[in-house]
Amino acid sequence: EALIKLTKLTKDFTGDAGVTSAIKGVDLTINAGEYLSIAGPSGCGKSTLLSILGLLETPSSGEYLLNGYLAHDLDVYQRAEIRNKEIGFIFQAFNLIGDLTVLENVALPLSYRKMKKKERDEIAMNSLEKVNMADRAKYYPAQLSGGQQQRIAVARSLVVDPSILLADEPTGNLDTANGGAIMDLFDELHDEGRTICMVTHDARFAKRSKRIVQLEDGVLR
Ligand code: ADP
Ligand code: ADP
Repeated sequence: EALIKLTKLTKDFTGDAGVTSAIKGVDLTINAGEYLSIAGPSGCGKSTLLSILGLLETPSSGEYLLNGYLAHDLDVYQRAEIRNKEIGFIFQAFNLIGDLTVLENVALPLSYRKMKKKERDEIAMNSLEKVNMADRAKYYPAQLSGGQQQRIAVARSLVVDPSILLADEPTGNLDTANGGAIMDLFDELHDEGRTICMVTHDARFAKRSKRIVQLEDGVLR
């Protein structure tokens, strides 16, 4: 069934140079359990589209249905609450917090839940086990390789049991071997039934998803 439905979605940015239409009327349905990638050249709107899906940006017009929520209609507080419940976001630059341990980084999204620290830490450890990083729980991000840091970021994205994982160029800061390892991890998550939407301009990695949609100058092809 449809987890996400975008209808006639647009996004304009207004700046000194006038208005940039980054997304120009996108219709897209993502079903639960799908693994898709959004491909396309630099500047075609991939990050903007993913940021809207992740409730980090709001659309200028159109409709966004996310797991039953009218996501385009939410205020900033509702977006934060639903983001924390429904969305796991994975960034190109990992975005781990340097002065928190690996376990603290992974447990962080749970700090908004009414839960004892012990319980949060247990869930975070389970998440670390899923990415084979439990033995690094007490390390700090700077003590780990880029590939390891991205695995930690994946563990953090999983910790709230989100309905969808959104990944923006998750292999962009990694060499081929480490990028491939992250794609192996995505395969496993997909096999376990996770819904994944990834943005990449790397055709080799896009091919590893089950469905590729091409974005071209703000329009889906
Ligand atoms: P991609 O991720 O495919 O490289 P982006 O979504 O980052 O593309 O950008 C799409 C277009 O929107 C580009 O022309 C970009 O310059 C513009 N854009 C993106 N974010 C902003 C912003 N915050 N302010 C103004 N223009 C933006
Ligand atoms: P990516 O490498 O994923 O394509 P970009 O480098 O295009 O991302 O954009 C990185 C950030 O800068 C995003 O948050 C995007 O919204 C913002 N951005 C992109 N283009 C512009 C722009 N022309 N003006 C202001 N912000 C922008």
